[in-house]
Amino acid sequence: MRSIESTASDIFKMEAIPFIDLRRQYELIRLEVDEAVARVLSKGNFILGEEVASFENEFAEYCGAAHCIGVASGTDALLLALLACDIRPGDEVVTAPNTPAAAMVAIEQAGACPVLVDIDAERHTLDPSAFARAVSSRTRAVIPVHLYGCPAEMDPILEYARGKGIRVVEDCAQAHGARYHGQRVGTLGDIAAFSFYPTKNIGAYGDGGAVVTDDPELAERVRLLRQYGWEERYISSIRGINSRLDELQAGILRVKLRHLDEWNRRRRELARTYSSLLADTDLALPLEPPDMTHVYHQFVIRHPRRRELQACLKQRGISTLVHYPVPIHLQPTYRHLAPAAGSLSRAEQAAQEVLSLPLYPEMPETDLHRVSDTILDFFKNIDTSAG
Ligand SMILES: *Cc1c(COP(=O)(O)O)cnc(C)c1O
Repeated sequence: MRSIESTASDIFKMEAIPFIDLRRQYELIRLEVDEAVARVLSKGNFILGEEVASFENEFAEYCGAAHCIGVASGTDALLLALLACDIRPGDEVVTAPNTPAAAMVAIEQAGACPVLVDIDAERHTLDPSAFARAVSSRTRAVIPVHLYGCPAEMDPILEYARGKGIRVVEDCAQAHGARYHGQRVGTLGDIAAFSFYPTKNIGAYGDGGAVVTDDPELAERVRLLRQYGWEERYISSIRGINSRLDELQAGILRVKLRHLDEWNRRRRELARTYSSLLADTDLALPLEPPDMTHVYHQFVIRHPRRRELQACLKQRGISTLVHYPVPIHLQPTYRHLAPAAGSLSRAEQAAQEVLSLPLYPEMPETDLHRVSDTILDFFKNIDTSAG
């Protein structure tokens, strides 16, 4: 067993372990990406051209959906999905509080009112029974988030929503390619939003997003809404916004889409390695519900002594992140959304305990072993100090 002293001096010899390193991926696909960028530049068309149309077809086919519309970001994809569903001022939209603010921004931009409900303690996704309890006569949509790459528990959410005429807008920003009972996310609800933020499982080299749906009417509305409501050029038939995916990002995403399944497979393999190396600790490890394909956008562990564990990893040069440190309803600008005390307690507790470990497809296996060893050391040391 290594002593604490020798480990502390080791860090001067060891390289820091980053949370993610996007340069490694670029090195592996440089030729394909550079070729795509050169192709777009030489065509001289940069907005809503052939690359976007081709990417839309390819991504719809990948998801197993009828339609895909490229937009400027994942947040815009959520907004456009809500607007296409005719969500208006006065409507309520239900979602969970343990996500980035994107859904809040989209709901409020649509003029609607967010209603936050608690999460399932193990999956960290929207609790279907909490959703059912929160539904009022004004509820028009629900946004389940497939968090960390794991599909939300969709069957009861879909069943309840269908019975009440509530639209189901999937937030797939962290779950490109994940499957729920064999079916890809993005095809489970009425309409879905994807983000291509650079660190997502498939990321652009800038901002990007997409709306995916099987419904031809919703698809057509999103197409109009993303560009000034134009039915034909310069003629607005409805009130829209400007939110377009550009040709350069679409060309790059077409290259990356060819690698997505392989990258997700590798994420799952690394996650399995972490899980087996950490199996004998008292950490809560990510749950993979039966008949689901988790795509490990994040590998999230849980422990009541998260703060100490994160500090210990940091001291040894290992970067980790907390997704997310403060639930939406405890953030300064969203305190008005806090419901009765205690009703979001599972989300609040998760925020205290979750920790995301480095995991990305090109991550060196030696890094993964060093992260695991450091965690095992941490538990050995706290066991010893506890007597
Ligand atoms: C990244 C993300 C978004 C927003 O995507 P942007 O492209 O950054 O606007 C929305 N929801 C979730 C769960 C995300 O992780």
